[in-house]
Amino acid sequence: MTARFVRPSLAVVKVGSSSLRGPDGRLDRRQVHALAEQVLTARAAGTQVVLVSSGAVAAGMGLLGLERRPLDLPTLQACAAVGQGELIQAYQQVLATAGTSAGQILLTQDDFVRRSRYLSARTTLQRLLEVGVLPVVNENDAVATDELAYGDNDHLAALVASMLDAQLLVLLSDVPGLYDRDPRHDAGAQLVTRVDDVDTLDVTRIGGVGSYVGSGGMRTKVQSARVAVRSATHAVVADARRPAVLHDVLEGAQVGTWFVAHDTRVEARRLWIGFALNVHGRIHVDDGAVAALRERGTSLLSVGVTRADGSFAAGDAVEVVDLQGRAIARGLTNYDVADVVRLAGRRTLEAAEAFGLGYAREVIHRDDLVLL
Ligand code: GLU
Repeated sequence: MTARFVRPSLAVVKVGSSSLRGPDGRLDRRQVHALAEQVLTARAAGTQVVLVSSGAVAAGMGLLGLERRPLDLPTLQACAAVGQGELIQAYQQVLATAGTSAGQILLTQDDFVRRSRYLSARTTLQRLLEVGVLPVVNENDAVATDELAYGDNDHLAALVASMLDAQLLVLLSDVPGLYDRDPRHDAGAQLVTRVDDVDTLDVTRIGGVGSYVGSGGMRTKVQSARVAVRSATHAVVADARRPAVLHDVLEGAQVGTWFVAHDTRVEARRLWIGFALNVHGRIHVDDGAVAALRERGTSLLSVGVTRADGSFAAGDAVEVVDLQGRAIARGLTNYDVADVVRLAGRRTLEAAEAFGLGYAREVIHRDDLVLL
């Protein structure tokens, strides 16, 4: 059978905590070591790797003597802070045998949204690769909680792949891939081997598959694959515990579920705004605004806004919806919900006269707006 794609020169490989934990819920060093060995093999065969690894919470549980995964975010964060060093050290043990090291990079959503931080993180990652070190990325759980709460680094991995122009994103999971039905409840469920158009997948139907042990689940994997393919990056979801899984995926073998890359790429920051950020509310706009956004690529001005709902602050991601309630765009709003309601229907000049010069801004600047 022909290969799915040519062997990538750079792959971002993400492994979730469920694939690195033992039955006691704590970090299983053997799993970490096995993965590090696979990464070394991949590098020797000509593919540079950036590893996005969870497992800090699991490692922290062991060190703190916790029997169960904490339920509250502050304790999870503390656990991750304790465990992160242990996690890196577990990788380091194997990498040292090949004369190399792990370079720890901890990132948050903000690092993708703020240009200077984005460029800085990218430069560091590139330099780590140049000097032959294995970058090991995790969410900076001590200050951010998105991946801890629901993602298990799926989003982060897609954004890193996009940031570095990787040709492939490998999402190693505790399930063999995406199924057409829930395999836990349906013995006839079939593995989907290839997805050409991720937008046609019914995410509500596949929600929950594979989320039995991991906090990520198939839903965030599909969303992550969606971001990857729009960055012209292939994505493969495969079983982390399958022997030589990384080797086979990189060779383009028929392993797991392959999400086929688009030909052209969308800028990483826009991908983040459009697909990765949590939406905190909705701004409703009239037909004139829809036409201006779609046909002329303008910013969203208050005059076209009819109302707003949800609970968003300035800087949050919101959905822009038309009069029929269809989502047409996503963006970062310059105002909180109360201000958007106040400004609705007013021309910008009029708003500035009524409320002050602070209100002379567009509701969403076009650089912060992504059409869906
Ligand atoms: N960043 C977290 C970790 O490394 C996410 C995994 C989790 O939620 O358990 O542990």
